[in-house]
Amino acid sequence: MSLAKLRTHYTKQINPDAIGEDKVTIAGWVHEVRDLGGICFVVVRDREGRAQVTLVKKNIDRELSNSARKLVRESVVSITGSVKPESKAPNGYEIIPDVIDVLNEAGSPLPMDTTGKVDAELDTRLDSRFIDLRRPGTLAVFKIRHEVQKAVRDFLTDNGFIESSTPKVVATATEGGTSLFPITYFDREAFLNQSPQLFKQILMAGGLDRVFEIGPIFRAEEHDTRRHLNEATSIDIEASFTDHFDVMEILENMVVFVYSQVKENATQMLDDLGVELTVPKTPLLRLKYQEAIDIVNSSSDEKLKWGDDLGTVSEHIIGEHVFNETGESHYFIIDWPSEIKPFYAMSYEDRPEISKSFDMMHRTMELSSGAQRVHDHDTLKDRIESKGLDSDGFDFYLRAFKYGMPPHSGWGIGCERLVMTMLGTDNIRDVVLFPRDRKRLSP
Ligand code: ATP
Ligand code: MG
Repeated sequence: MSLAKLRTHYTKQINPDAIGEDKVTIAGWVHEVRDLGGICFVVVRDREGRAQVTLVKKNIDRELSNSARKLVRESVVSITGSVKPESKAPNGYEIIPDVIDVLNEAGSPLPMDTTGKVDAELDTRLDSRFIDLRRPGTLAVFKIRHEVQKAVRDFLTDNGFIESSTPKVVATATEGGTSLFPITYFDREAFLNQSPQLFKQILMAGGLDRVFEIGPIFRAEEHDTRRHLNEATSIDIEASFTDHFDVMEILENMVVFVYSQVKENATQMLDDLGVELTVPKTPLLRLKYQEAIDIVNSSSDEKLKWGDDLGTVSEHIIGEHVFNETGESHYFIIDWPSEIKPFYAMSYEDRPEISKSFDMMHRTMELSSGAQRVHDHDTLKDRIESKGLDSDGFDFYLRAFKYGMPPHSGWGIGCERLVMTMLGTDNIRDVVLFPRDRKRLSP
């Protein structure tokens, strides 16, 4: 990798054996200055780690020595010098500097501590995300999130999926309902899309066969929970000539792949966070909705009946039950009542009250919903109307079902929920750079 002239190496790339006699230039933030009189240590931090810069007063130019002592924490510096082995320094080397360049001095006091020694409230951290990201724990989360998204892309691409991008400004709600953000689109009303669902399906009519999208979804629900955002990132797929069981297999294999990749490529970050990852074992349990509500009814005061949705409490009861029985945190709930699944979900022909839908669950929350979709135009139109929606608004979508729509299935999994359950963070906002919720619209 070639870095710009202001530096030649990341801190972690400096290895005295590899570098030999050559001078190196590192650049980053002043993490710490320890002035012990005769000797002064400056710790410089960059994205990849830390390096120790050592100035022994009697060996070094006075002006240089003075400027090092005056460095303000979190200022941006570029330091050139030679590398020397030093067992007590990070990575076992230190830099003896020739030049210390202050590229930009930091103001003080800092809005929050960057060493990780002082715990800050989530709100304080989010208000000053630019500085929160300099803490090793926060940075680790976003490096892992990168690994997750990369693994998803790799897995789906290798399995024949084409990456697609569908509009986020739309004229019609995906599932009707009120949970949409209206916007002004020139002189018309439009909405921010709550899901790429309808567009993914249109792409099936276009013969794209298998598509995926990693993109934003917007939900105007006024919830204030630890697992909901008003702008989230959804990983969505749609696949032609498949049924719900086929795409459940793709989903569980993808989750296993993502976990394995993170375990392999993000060892240091997992260590920083104190997380030990257990890769799920496939095939995951496929629990029927009826069995799930029986578990709830037999182990709590809650009495659910056919057609009731599962709330947070029920999800926890079922999650614990499955974990105790199988030792696995992930499982599917299948055979949902058709009445509580969206119009585009297909029902069994011989059992119309049961939907070919599934949810992938984590012990603590829902991760994903999916289904085989209705591909017959007239059935779909009836389903839209039976949900109390105006089918005229869906004309752009219904047209795609008239001229050769293959059978197809798909799912959507929340990227944040995938990362948060993997890392065991207790608030979804921890795994989003700039979360959007009921109260937060800035930064
Ligand atoms: P929940 O019942 O937990 O609110 P949902 O059933 O409304 O979720 P779906 O419409 O099925 O959500 O969306 C598919 C996936 O997208 C969800 O399983 C979840 O992982 C993610 N997701 C949906 N809404 C949100 C949200 N508001 N914040 C974060 N993730 C979300
Ligand atoms: Mg759902």
